[in-house]
Amino acid sequence: MLINRGYRYRLYLTAKQQKLFSQYAGVCRLVYNLGLEQRTHHWRQFRRQMGTSISDVTQSAELTALRAEFDWIKEVAITPQQQALRDLQVAYKNFFAARALYPTPRRKGVDDAFRFQGREVEVKKINRNWSAVKLPKIGWVRYRDSRALEGKIKNVTLSRDALGWHVAFSLEIERDVEPAPKAAVGIDRGVANSVALSTGAMPVFPIEQINVLVRRRQAVQQSLAKRKKGSKRRRKEIRRAAAISARVARVRKHWNHVQTARIARDFNFVCIEDLRTANMTRSASGTLEDPGTNVAQKSGLNRSILERGWRQFETLLEYKLRERGSTLKKVDPKNTSRSCSHCEHVDARNRESQAQFRCVACGHEAHADVNAAINILRARTRPAIDKSRSRISPKRKSRLSVKVPVP
Ligand SMILES: [Zn+2]
Repeated sequence: MLINRGYRYRLYLTAKQQKLFSQYAGVCRLVYNLGLEQRTHHWRQFRRQMGTSISDVTQSAELTALRAEFDWIKEVAITPQQQALRDLQVAYKNFFAARALYPTPRRKGVDDAFRFQGREVEVKKINRNWSAVKLPKIGWVRYRDSRALEGKIKNVTLSRDALGWHVAFSLEIERDVEPAPKAAVGIDRGVANSVALSTGAMPVFPIEQINVLVRRRQAVQQSLAKRKKGSKRRRKEIRRAAAISARVARVRKHWNHVQTARIARDFNFVCIEDLRTANMTRSASGTLEDPGTNVAQKSGLNRSILERGWRQFETLLEYKLRERGSTLKKVDPKNTSRSCSHCEHVDARNRESQAQFRCVACGHEAHADVNAAINILRARTRPAIDKSRSRISPKRKSRLSVKVPVP
């Protein structure tokens, strides 16, 4: 069976390469944004004149003309530019399938990235800790080799975050994946522990490690607020805060990878709550009926981080289950936190506190998140959620069409 894997490493660039990378990112961003502009403003004329719609193929053909005209575009290898147009095509596909909002222009310093195809690059090991990748027109760039590559390289993405430039290899590996044992599990996303399983397992989330980083970032942000706008000090502290955020994201992603791998190994049928209908304030305030403690502390930014973490968990779990031919079922989370997993009595008073569940009817006691996870597993037999309820609300849709200017 062919499976896909991603490997990401920190790059160590020379000053000259730094400049070159910025140039590549800049040209690819320009090509993407030009492509977006054409699709947004000129799609009608294009169809009238050419008798066909704009696609990444038509835009790639026009790219050749553009390259002939501008030397500084020609200086940059062509495939990353074609890949940028390919990304745009995917962004539109997702938009028309209501999976994403209308594509927005890529911004400097935020979306700095470009991509090559696997067959264009070469990889070599330098010594125990270092390897290098050879990129067309750029040459060899070094990266810190933390684990060996395995499989066939499909593509290579170079991207910059607050910690610097990174290389991400996307690989195809031929591997026998053992099917998971026939076992079903329900998973509830909690507040303190980020997930609870219907088996009673509650893998410990590295909340302390994250809190230390978040407090450090808060301190930087406080001192940053006192700096003069545009000052060197201020810019430096903005970068420091962003670097801490990147580290928080890394800790979370690692945890999500480890936990989802375990679940995919042990269960072939997994139920989670459907986020499209889940009350998104739940993670901050317990249940609406039964607000948790520390609501203020958990609301706002913290909450949005929790939600993003849960989405990532879901994405990783989904593909790991798919690799083994297992099933992920999203269930309607209605009442899953308020009903008793023992006698099915539904009552807001069942939830004694954020963590404690005690049924007022039968006296059944459990950790509230585990009780919810059992209910989520049980909800798999409930009728599916109405598919017509799209993730994009009608209100959002109308705003969107206003935003797309008429040529
Ligand atoms: Zn009960």
